[in-house]
Amino acid sequence: MILNAFELTGKVAIVTGCNTGLGQGMALGLAQAGCDIVGINVSEPGETAEKIIATGRRFLDLRADLSSIQGITGLIEKAVSEFGHIDILVNNAGIIRREDAIEFSEKNWDDVMNVNSKTLFFMSQAVAKQFIKQGNGGKIINIASMLSYQGGIRVPSYTASKSAVMGLTRLMANEWAKHNVNVNAIAPGYMATNNTEQLRADGERSKEILDRIPAGRWGLPEDVMGPVVFLSSKASDYVNGYTIAVDGGWLAR
Ligand code: NAP
Repeated sequence: MILNAFELTGKVAIVTGCNTGLGQGMALGLAQAGCDIVGINVSEPGETAEKIIATGRRFLDLRADLSSIQGITGLIEKAVSEFGHIDILVNNAGIIRREDAIEFSEKNWDDVMNVNSKTLFFMSQAVAKQFIKQGNGGKIINIASMLSYQGGIRVPSYTASKSAVMGLTRLMANEWAKHNVNVNAIAPGYMATNNTEQLRADGERSKEILDRIPAGRWGLPEDVMGPVVFLSSKASDYVNGYTIAVDGGWLAR
C-alpha cells in the first residue's frame, strides 16, 4: 500500500546542524517516521535529543565543526559502529553573512562557502562511499535556498554557496543514480529560524518579504518535515537530482 512506502522504520539518518531550526524539525520528522538519528552538531543538541528519544527512537550525539572537512571519515565510522548502517544523509548545517557586495570580505566568502558547499560535498561523498559499500542505495537531501534560484541582496557568498548546492545536487544524482543513491534538495523559503533573525528584526524588510509570500506567513520547521520524509523514503525512488521549493508559494510570484 502506498502509505507504507513512506515508512522509515529501521532506517538511520544523519542530520547535520539539528540542535535548532529546520534541522531540528527534519530530525524530528524523520524520527516520527521511524528513523534513528545521528546528529552532527557544533552546539549541544539537548532539546533535539529529548524530542527524538520521546518518539521511541535512538539519538547519537556527534560533535564537529563543519567549517572544516577534517574528521568527516571518523564521524561516518562512529555512526556505522553505533547503528551498523546509514540510509539517509540530510546536509542541513549552513550559515549566512550579510554585507554589501562592494565591501564583502574574503572571510565572509570563505566561511560560508566552506560550511554550505565544501563540507556538504565531502560529507555526501563520504556517505555515498558507505552507501555503495552497503549495496542498498541511499538518500541524500541537501538544503538549498530561494537563493539557489534568485540573486538576493547583501549575501554574495550565501547566494554562491546555495546556487552550488542546486548544481551539486544534480551532479551527484547523475553520478550515483547507478548505485540507487538519490540526491535531491529542499529549498526552504523564508522561515522563522535563527538564520532570518536579522531580517525579521528589520521592520521594513520583514514587511516587504511577508507581503510577497502567498501563504501570508513565514515558514516553520514543521513545514519541512513532510518533504524530508518523502525524499528519504521509497515513495521518492524515481525523483533524482531535483530541488523542491518549500516556500509558501514565494517562487510562484
Ligand atoms: P539556524 O537555526 O541558524 O540553523 C543552522 C544550523 O547549522 C545550526 O544547527 C547551526 O549550529 C549549524 N551550523 C552552522 N555552522 C556550523 C558549523 N560550522 N558546524 C556545524 N554546524 C553548524 O538556521 P536554519 O534556518 O534552521 O538553517 C538550516 C538550513 O536551512 C541552513 O542550511 C540554511 O541556510 C537553510 N535555509 C534557511 C532558510 C530560512 O529562511 N531560515 C531559508 C533557506 C535555507 P549552531 O546553532 O550551533 O550555530
